[in-house]
Amino acid sequence: MARERLYLFDTTLRDGAQTNGVDFTLADKLAIAGMLDDLGIDYVEGGYPGANPTDTELFGEDRKFDTTFTAFGMTRRPGRSASNDPGLAALLEAKADAICFVAKAWDYHVRVALETTDEENLASIRDSVKAAKAKGREVLLDCEHFFDGYKANPKYAIECAKAAYDEGARWVVLCDTNGGTLPHEVKEIVGAVCKAIPGDHVGIHAHNDTEQAVANSFAAVRAGARQIQGTLNGLGERCGNANLVSIIPTLKLKPEFAGKFEIGVTDAQLHKLTLASHALDERLNRAPNRHAPYVGESAFATKAGIHASAIMKDPATYEHTAPEAVGNRRKVLVSEQAGKSNILTELERIGIKADKDDPRVGRLLEIVKERETIGYAYEAADASFELLARRTLGTVPNYFDIAQFDVTVAQQANADGKRVTVSKATVQVRIGSEILSSEAEGDGPVNALDLALRKDLGKYQKYIARLKLTDYRVRILNSGTEAVTRVLIESEDEAGENWITIGVSTNIIDASFQALMDSIIYKLVKSGAPA
Ligand SMILES: [Zn+2]
Repeated sequence: MARERLYLFDTTLRDGAQTNGVDFTLADKLAIAGMLDDLGIDYVEGGYPGANPTDTELFGEDRKFDTTFTAFGMTRRPGRSASNDPGLAALLEAKADAICFVAKAWDYHVRVALETTDEENLASIRDSVKAAKAKGREVLLDCEHFFDGYKANPKYAIECAKAAYDEGARWVVLCDTNGGTLPHEVKEIVGAVCKAIPGDHVGIHAHNDTEQAVANSFAAVRAGARQIQGTLNGLGERCGNANLVSIIPTLKLKPEFAGKFEIGVTDAQLHKLTLASHALDERLNRAPNRHAPYVGESAFATKAGIHASAIMKDPATYEHTAPEAVGNRRKVLVSEQAGKSNILTELERIGIKADKDDPRVGRLLEIVKERETIGYAYEAADASFELLARRTLGTVPNYFDIAQFDVTVAQQANADGKRVTVSKATVQVRIGSEILSSEAEGDGPVNALDLALRKDLGKYQKYIARLKLTDYRVRILNSGTEAVTRVLIESEDEAGENWITIGVSTNIIDASFQALMDSIIYKLVKSGAPA
C-alpha cells in the first residue's frame, strides 16, 4: 500500500526565537536554516520580515534552499484594505516561497484583543490569503488559540479555518497557542475539523505547557492532520514547542507511523539528527540535554552489569530502537570494541583510511577518552578531531612552533583622559631556523592574541591571509573540583568553508590559544601547505 505523505514544518527560527535568552543573528539563522534544509524538513519558517532588521535582511534576498522557505506575519489589520497595510506589504515583498499568516480563531480574542467583529476577522483572513496567492506564494494560516476557540465557539473557529482553505490556502494549521490542550481533546477537535477541511490540508502546532506537545502532535495525525509544526530541541516560548527531534525518529522508526506515512527526511538524513540537535545547543551556548530522547548522550547508555552483557549479545534486548539510526551511539561503559568502531566510523567520515588492527587507532581512542573526561567535546569540534586523528596517525607536518607568547591587559588613561582597557599580545613563532616576532592590539586579550598570531607566519602567511574567525564561544565546565573553560572557535576560509576547533584549560587564554592554533594548522593541512 502506498504510504501517505506527512509534512514537517520547522519554526525554530520564528517561534523558537521567542525563547527566553535566545537571540539569533542573521548568521545563526542562515546556518540553522541550512542545517534544517540538510535534514530534509519540508518547511522552514525563517522569521517575521518587517518586524525586526534581522528578519527583514534574512528575507531580503533569495536564499536558494530546497526547503519551502517561509515568512511569517499577520493578516491585514481590521478596517484596512489589503493594499493599504504596510505590515502585509512587507510580508508580500519578502523573498519567501511561502507565507504563513497568523489569525485569530477564537471569537473572544477577536472582540477583546482585535476589537473588531467576527465578520471583519473572516474578511481579513480571506483578503490576506488572496493577496499572497496573487503574489504566487504558497499560503498557510496559523489559527491562533484554535483549541480554546473551538471549545468556546466551534462554529466560528471552523469558519476561520475554512475561510483560508476556501480561498486557496495550502494549509490550515491548528495552534494550541497556550499549550493547555490534552491529547484526547486534540484528537476529538482535529477529527471534527477534518470533516470540514480535508486532513491533507490540516496542520498541528502544539506547545508544551503540559509536556504533551509531542503526544498532541501525534494525536492530531491520528485524527487526520498531515502537517506537524515544531522546533529543534523543542525550543520555544515558555515550555517550548513540539520537539521535532523526538517527532522525526518516532515517525521514521515506529511501525504505527513508518508503515503508514512517508516524510521528507531520508534514512541518511535521520543519521544526522543527533549532530543537528547538538549543533543547535552549541550555537546557543547551552549544554545539550544528556537525557534527551533519541539524541541525548545517555539515551542509549547502559551501566555495566547484566544489562551491559545482554546488550553486547543482542542490543535489541534493552533498546527500543537502534542508536545508529539517529546518529547517536550506544554507550556501554565502555567496551574497547564499541569505542574502536566509533573511532573508525569517524575516521571514515573525514576521509582517513585506517585499519582496525592498527595500534594507533587504539591509541587515538585512548587519547579521545582521556581528553573528553577533562572537558574536550570532539563531536562539536570536528576540525580539532581531525587534527588529533591525523597527528596520532602521523600525517601532520610540524609547520611551526610557538617560541613564546605574552598577553597583557591594562587599564590606563587615553589621550582624552578617559580610562580605557587596552589588550596587547606579542607572539614569537619559530619556522625552521627563523624566528618571527609579531605584536598586536585587540578588543580584549583573545582578539589581540589572534591578531598577533596571524600577523606573520612567514612562508605560510599566504595560506591563512583570508582566514576569518566567525564565532567564539566560551563555556565554564565543572569537572571534579576545579572549573575549566572550554572554548570553541568557528573559522571560515576564502572558499566559504567553515570548521570548528576546541581548546580546554583552567585558563581562558590558554584554552583560546589551543583553539586558535588548531584552526590555523587545520587550514594549512587543508590547503596542502608544504612542511
Ligand atoms: Zn506557537
